[in-house]
Amino acid sequence: MTQHPQDAASLHARHQAVLPSWLSLYYERPLELTHGEGRHVWDAEGNRYLDFFGGILTTMTAHALPEVTKAVSEQAGRIIHTSTLYLSRPMVDLAERIAALSGIPDARVFFTTSGTEANDAALLLATAHRRSNQVLAMRNSYHGRSFSTVGITGNQSWSPTSLSPLQTLYVHGGVRTRGPYAELGDRDYIAACVADLEDMLQQTAGGIAALIAEPVQGVGGFTMPPDGLYAAFREVLARHGILWISDEVQTGWGRTGDHFWGWQAHADNGPPDLLTFAKGIGNGMAIGGVVARAEVMNSLTANSISTFGGSPVTMAAGLANLTYLLEHDLQGNARRVGGLLIERLRAVTAGLDVVREVRGRGLMIGVELVRPGTDERAPEAASLVLEAARERGLLIGKGGQGGASLRIAPPMTLTVAEAEEGATLLADALQAVQGVLAPS
Ligand code: PMP
Repeated sequence: MTQHPQDAASLHARHQAVLPSWLSLYYERPLELTHGEGRHVWDAEGNRYLDFFGGILTTMTAHALPEVTKAVSEQAGRIIHTSTLYLSRPMVDLAERIAALSGIPDARVFFTTSGTEANDAALLLATAHRRSNQVLAMRNSYHGRSFSTVGITGNQSWSPTSLSPLQTLYVHGGVRTRGPYAELGDRDYIAACVADLEDMLQQTAGGIAALIAEPVQGVGGFTMPPDGLYAAFREVLARHGILWISDEVQTGWGRTGDHFWGWQAHADNGPPDLLTFAKGIGNGMAIGGVVARAEVMNSLTANSISTFGGSPVTMAAGLANLTYLLEHDLQGNARRVGGLLIERLRAVTAGLDVVREVRGRGLMIGVELVRPGTDERAPEAASLVLEAARERGLLIGKGGQGGASLRIAPPMTLTVAEAEEGATLLADALQAVQGVLAPS
């Protein structure tokens, strides 16, 4: 049964009356998505959309993937939940697989229920291990919504308070598009960022616990620092005993195409000390976690427990989803189809003044918008393009500095035909918005 648009309006009003004002919603007429299949979703009014945002990356493989549905329902039919106080086979199975894939030697895995909580756990471990609450984070970063993680979130529109249990210093380098050093080549850019970091460390009293960084900034607009940046940082950090936490909440599981983890594009001199993950691994079920060397993971001496982290139903989903991802080489698919999509998007937007840049890696693609005829960021254009794409049956995201970038991250089973269809729809939406914005 499809609903009348008025039902959606009344649901929106009820949402606003009972949920926090800061829980942001997309679209002037927010969408209620009621079901999905493959790379498509349907709203309550019966409209079908090509999903180029993958439930912001939580739908890693496909909507309603039968393998995941089956694993979840079978496990739910046996037992839904126990506790970390008891042994759980699905939890150990998934931990073993993630530990082996992580690239971290002597890895231990702790499961949480979100990326926020994963980063919070990583901060707890790193600060306890180093006995310091000083941390480094990247400018324009996003790491979560809790008290500790907003304190390491450099993107100011997502960091609602300056109060923090941590002392955070923000490092330059994650965003290359604009700002200092933007014009430099890869090597010089890295050298300049390293010099900045060294300078900051020299001028900072006390021992810093960790640097936390997203290899490709997600909320920050799918920014693309040059490969090797974090390898260069790592050398500096290692000299100071500072741990490196790679936030792989968006970049993990092969989405960037060339690599299974985002850190691999950067560090040929070794893995991070800690890695955090969430979002896609559960294909929509709430799984997050942190992987760390045993020496770091086991630095907590008091007991701990997680009521829902590692819960059997979510672990069953994660196992089925990971198996599907590996067996179908979805990393390879992200590389091939993502590469093609980036090329297509560059081609179809080449003549559009509203598009400053199409940047991306695999199936993480950012399109930065400017006011036509200027180099000023155009957040209003991003909002209009979102609406225009929706009208054409395409869901995309936005974000980045000043909210002026479009974000594209489809489920990793995306086909070539869907990539081409999406690129055409998006070009059409951009064209329409440019027509409205262009100075006459
Ligand atoms: N880290 C990164 C890089 C993220 O993109 C996000 C979510 N956008 C988080 C952490 C927080 O994850 P969650 O919303 O699951 O708490």
